[in-house]
Amino acid sequence: MRRRRNEAEDARSGRGAACKKAGKALYMLLPILLTLAGCVRGGAGGPEEASASFFGMDTYITLTAYGEGARSALADAQERMAQLEQSLSATDAGSDVYVLNHGGGKPVAVGEDTESLVSFVLEMAERTDGALDPTIYPVLLAWGFTAEENRVPGEEELARLLSKVDYRKVAVGDGVITLPEGMALDLGAVGKGYAGDVLAGLLREAGVQSALLDLGGNVQVLGGKPDGSDWRVGIRNPAGEGILGVLAVRDVAVVTSGSYERFFLGEDGSRYGHIIDPGTGYPVENGLLSVTVVAAEGKYCDALSTALFVMGREGAVEYWRTHRDFEMILAAEGGEILVTEGLAARFARGEQGGGWKVGVVE
Ligand code: AMP
Ligand code: MG
Repeated sequence: MRRRRNEAEDARSGRGAACKKAGKALYMLLPILLTLAGCVRGGAGGPEEASASFFGMDTYITLTAYGEGARSALADAQERMAQLEQSLSATDAGSDVYVLNHGGGKPVAVGEDTESLVSFVLEMAERTDGALDPTIYPVLLAWGFTAEENRVPGEEELARLLSKVDYRKVAVGDGVITLPEGMALDLGAVGKGYAGDVLAGLLREAGVQSALLDLGGNVQVLGGKPDGSDWRVGIRNPAGEGILGVLAVRDVAVVTSGSYERFFLGEDGSRYGHIIDPGTGYPVENGLLSVTVVAAEGKYCDALSTALFVMGREGAVEYWRTHRDFEMILAAEGGEILVTEGLAARFARGEQGGGWKVGVVE
């Protein structure tokens, strides 16, 4: 049951387009099967390895942890993950977010996770000047991304829906969130990152010092590998197969956003991706193919990778130069990879990275 890995990488940041098409139904059964199997392996003299794979937050999740207590910690992590999804999902009837989105503008009492994550995402919306906006949901629905029945909305429809998009109108505090009628929240841009932080914290508390959490391409690692070396996280090639490069890291989250992860082709052959520019209501199309963010916290990486993708190459570089509390890798049309200076020594070109030009951002 051990995960098969490419020799060069332990995980990949960035979800493949094929992922969501594979058998979701089968994956719904897998948690039970895999958890029962336990996936525990005593290494040859190394610490015990435990792993669990299951479907959650609309993606495939694989958690691998090492050492004593890893197995029971993973069982707890899987349970906690289900709980998070029940609060944060926009589509599960009964979740905090669902109740808010269908609450007709009334204040709604929410759980701690929801309050904490909504507060965080509003703060990030402010810091990114609205490039990240969790109230984009009505627009996302119009493009059909949640229903998988995609369509291109008309200008008037988009203008009407954009009048319902404004993170500044969401009020949160004391366990209560108020969303004006007609508006709707979507935590899809930050949910997996937040979940990564929660699960990493849970594993740390259980005494786990080495783990690899792969939440559908949102990778979060605890410590280094059991042998003391760095984890090796592959960055997907957003323009095709394989990987662009490999990052050697420890104790960080590595989160990638890109339109290649989820998109549809319009009748005219245009590509429409799942990340929407809140300024226009249209899927982002600015020459960037993917943005990978590396920092200690998964939720920070997740919020930023989406926001920087919206900002585009120049905006992302300018944002990094202003803040410098994260590192990033940009992949742009034309075959260019930009790596911020703190990552330059940790990044090595991968099998598909040969034709790309690598530049360092200082
Ligand atoms: P990610 O893969 O983390 O970049 O998140 C993308 C998801 O966030 C999309 O599938 C939507 O659910 C949501 N989303 C799309 N555009 C935005 C945006 N501008 N601000 C916030 N959430 C967004
Ligand atoms: Mg994100």
